[in-house]
Amino acid sequence: MERTGAALIDIDGVLTVSWEPLPGAVEAMERLRAEGIPLALVTNTTSRTRARIAERLAGAGFPVGPDDILTAPAVTAAHLRAHHPGARCLLINDGDVRGDLSGVTLVEEEDAEGAAPDVVVLGGAGGAFTYAALNRAFRLLQQGAPLVAMHRNLYWRTAGGYDLDTGAFLLGLERAARTEAVVTGKPARAFFAAALTHLGADPGRTLMVGDDIDTDVLAAQRHGITGVLVRTGKYRPETQAAADGTPDHVVDSFADVPALLEGLGR
Ligand SMILES: [Mg+2]
Repeated sequence: MERTGAALIDIDGVLTVSWEPLPGAVEAMERLRAEGIPLALVTNTTSRTRARIAERLAGAGFPVGPDDILTAPAVTAAHLRAHHPGARCLLINDGDVRGDLSGVTLVEEEDAEGAAPDVVVLGGAGGAFTYAALNRAFRLLQQGAPLVAMHRNLYWRTAGGYDLDTGAFLLGLERAARTEAVVTGKPARAFFAAALTHLGADPGRTLMVGDDIDTDVLAAQRHGITGVLVRTGKYRPETQAAADGTPDHVVDSFADVPALLEGLGR
């Protein structure tokens, strides 16, 4: 029997909301584990390391460890190591993800040697995105420093409403400095490629399960992966109707994924 080989699973809005498990999600993941399906949790989260995410999920009952998790910072580090080896990077990010940036040299604005950083790296927006920090980045970009961004999300949803995210600042920097960022997180091809390599999986036999129809589902489908949209998290019928494509599958929640995989295997 030809089985679907592997599953890439978004975390926020699929497995958890505000880090609390969604109904049936823990049991569904236990079932995928029992069936030996290789899986990776793929997230653009820029505020926590893989180790902290794993700890949080394991604490909620999910059978996962740090090696099962792929974050935008971890993929960014792989990109920097491959394309800018030894570069001194100015990182602007809200949250401490240094644990996921092994092999990357981070330099502060005020470098002791007085030399300018080689590469500008934008993580997730927040208090670290000050005028001073963004202007420093702008000046480095004007001098020709490459720009790498962990994602292009324009805003995210919090308990208090929507908050501006990296993409809004990135557009301004790109326009002002007449440059274009390399984006490393979802929906970048490099992100999905890194996840498939991590699992040793073939795109044609892999599912991507997400609550964001564009960044998770349609992006994965463009890279040859089977897309599965869940009706939890940020899912809205109107967003689905307005989207630029159609998911391969739509299910009520992650709890339905083991049965879907079983059906696809036949
Ligand atoms: Mg999500």
